Amino acid sequence: MSFAEFNLHPSILANVTSLGFEIPTPIQVQAIPVVVEGQDLLGIAKTGSGKTACFVLPILDQILKNTGGERSRQPKVLVLVPTRELAIQVVEVFKELSRNLPEPVKSMAVYGGVSINPQMKSIYGVDILIATPGRLLDLQRSNAVDLTKVKRLVLDEADKMLNLGFKKEMQEIFELLPKKRQNLLFSATLSDQLTEINRVLLSDPVVIEIEDKVDEVELINLSGYFVSDERKGPLLRHLINKQDMKQVLVFTSSGIKADKVAGKLSKNGINAISIHGRKSQSARSGALEKFKSGKLQVLVATDLISRGIDINELPYVINYELPRSPKDFVHRVGRTGRAKSEGLAITFVTREETHHFKVILKKMKRYIDMIDSETLEF
Ligand code: AMP
Repeated sequence: MSFAEFNLHPSILANVTSLGFEIPTPIQVQAIPVVVEGQDLLGIAKTGSGKTACFVLPILDQILKNTGGERSRQPKVLVLVPTRELAIQVVEVFKELSRNLPEPVKSMAVYGGVSINPQMKSIYGVDILIATPGRLLDLQRSNAVDLTKVKRLVLDEADKMLNLGFKKEMQEIFELLPKKRQNLLFSATLSDQLTEINRVLLSDPVVIEIEDKVDEVELINLSGYFVSDERKGPLLRHLINKQDMKQVLVFTSSGIKADKVAGKLSKNGINAISIHGRKSQSARSGALEKFKSGKLQVLVATDLISRGIDINELPYVINYELPRSPKDFVHRVGRTGRAKSEGLAITFVTREETHHFKVILKKMKRYIDMIDSETLEF
């Protein structure tokens, strides 16, 4: 199957080629024709599967093919996302794929944590709006945006939106949209809460489920160390230095811990920055950019952002602390070995956490030979 078979506008196809996409991913093969047809879709797929293009390509195509008629100065497409990081990532894909189109298509991301004024000023005339729920409602209440022209609604990482407690905001937003519209919902998992949302939102949707991420995690090399809390810092430095890790993503369970770990690494001459929910948007994007471009050796992050990070072929992920849920574990280690490149995910486990870690591994149908850090010299 090739992208040409989707009958997309030639300018869009040219952008796909210049992004280096040669063949569509499995979810793209199944989902793009459904979205082009205008049907509702429920896509069960995680970040990394290529799901973004599943809605970006048909949406741009539809806007281009509908030109000539009356053009509203209000958004026709609304993409709701849980985090600022994902908002930025999605708008980048829209921008990349709408380069040099015969008619300019304007996309914009709005999210909290930054001043609302510049967003209010530039929102007029936007065709595609990518938004986190809270900020979108703020903009709507200030009359900066009118959502009554929205013809397509996309919920991206819907499960995460619910986990972050956005249910009320989401429902409030649905009320502001025209009843007749296409709805596309993407989620890594299906929960009862999500089923409830599906029921109100989707009308006779096509359901596409892309193989469970557990299968993908099978490709990732996992290793683990038994280590006491006090020895975690020295073990981390030892591993980074000994294995000459040039780019490593470290996960902690809280922002405070992330700051501490990054601080300690920096003191010891290892270039590290932390990112978490309490950091400003510019600090977060700046750190992420440096990390992606290879200028930053270690990025220390919390689970809140683990899903929003789009970094291909990340060689190392280290779980400095265990996540609470197996799902988070999968999302964390899923940052390595993406796009079929090899990756290594290392997990630090205290003796007290042995049982919890076993539960996680059992869910993933994986086994790890643990290394006792007491036997190592560092
Ligand atoms: P997503 O799941 O949409 O976050 O995409 C994950 C990564 O895969 C992104 O870096 C995309 O640029 C890349 N990608 C998406 N579709 C394709 C494709 N058909 N071929 C190669 N890479 C792709």
